[in-house]
Amino acid sequence: MKIHEYQGKQILREFGVPVPRGIPAFTVDEAVHAAEQLGGPVWVVKAQIHAGGRGKGGGVKLARSIDEVRQLAGQMLGMQLITHQTGPQGQTVRRLLIEEGADIRHEYYAGLVIDRAAQKVAVMASSEGGMDIEEVAAKTPEKLHKVWVDPTGGLQQADALALCEKIGLPEGSRAAGAAALQGLYRAFWDKDASLAEINPLILEGNGAVKALDAKFNFDDNALYRHPELEAMRDLDEEDPAEIEASKHGLSYIQLDGNIACLVNGAGLAMATMDTIKLFGGEPANFLDVGGGATAEKVTAAFKIMLHNPQVKAILVNIFGGIMRCDVIAEGLITACRAVSLKVPLVVRMKGTNEDLGKRMLAESGLPIISAETLAEAAKQVVAAAA
Ligand code: ADP
Ligand code: MG
Repeated sequence: MKIHEYQGKQILREFGVPVPRGIPAFTVDEAVHAAEQLGGPVWVVKAQIHAGGRGKGGGVKLARSIDEVRQLAGQMLGMQLITHQTGPQGQTVRRLLIEEGADIRHEYYAGLVIDRAAQKVAVMASSEGGMDIEEVAAKTPEKLHKVWVDPTGGLQQADALALCEKIGLPEGSRAAGAAALQGLYRAFWDKDASLAEINPLILEGNGAVKALDAKFNFDDNALYRHPELEAMRDLDEEDPAEIEASKHGLSYIQLDGNIACLVNGAGLAMATMDTIKLFGGEPANFLDVGGGATAEKVTAAFKIMLHNPQVKAILVNIFGGIMRCDVIAEGLITACRAVSLKVPLVVRMKGTNEDLGKRMLAESGLPIISAETLAEAAKQVVAAAA
């Protein structure tokens, strides 16, 4: 789960990481009121969407008067903000953060991720903040410094100080920088984050260190122990199809291709997608209906997949182990009738009650293309989509 910058800053504040004073706003009036409360002379109006790169996309703007705050808030609220992380359609801006303008002397980068290979949290920092950190990592990896944290002791002050020195934070500000990194680490740990980033972490003219941006991703599997995080969830920022799928207990991720896939088991779903690609096709989604899918669940899955206007053909690949092929067949028939299917459907079934399932499909009178092997099914669906 992701949250907005202003919510991330609220968490940072709780963990003692300094952030600029700021107030979220949902309307132009609220934005003006927030600016008045903060006081001038300089404000920053920041679009709140679950994507980075807002600055370059026109979602972070400086205002030098209350009138300018009003004008910028009016322009930003409701706009489709396009950044390199939103995709070409952009994301609608529904919330703003009105913040005091910071006196920036230098922009640094700080980020935490779980390093699976090391089985530790990696703390990364760089002198090259404010810009795309992926580019820094690719082009000048020597400018991205890392330490791996022993989980029993947490991020030690000595390690944090050493990182601050490596990125060139002036000596007088290193203790503050180290404290900010340690606060970020504690927030990451206590909140079960999978990623936390402050980009930029700034040095101000007076030597203070502040988090000017905040990004968190949280582990969905740990959300049950963080009701305070669940309360921060913004469904407007999430894919409606993925929200609908989660209600039915389906694992669904929308992708860019045009071949919808309905599969039982995550491993088989990935193998199916690979095979589609092997034969020159592009999957429109990942969808795992799980081990114990009912006819209702399959119908829901069909509706969700077909909501995607890109879909030109469907591939159903079922291994009837726990799941019986006749139950899937029943679900498919119900679903096809319920959605009055208009795109070609290729079905491959193997396993328990396979013959019964195939007979049910054949006798349904629906235009279903039946395949024996996965390769055959993939070839047929790629041809059907073309
Ligand atoms: P994004 O990463 O989505 O582009 P940021 O919050 O990092 O958004 O803002 C982009 C840039 O805007 C920052 O690198 C910084 O230069 C500037 N900026 C952001 N917030 C402030 C602020 N409160 N005061 C001054 N400049 C700011
Ligand atoms: Mg940023």
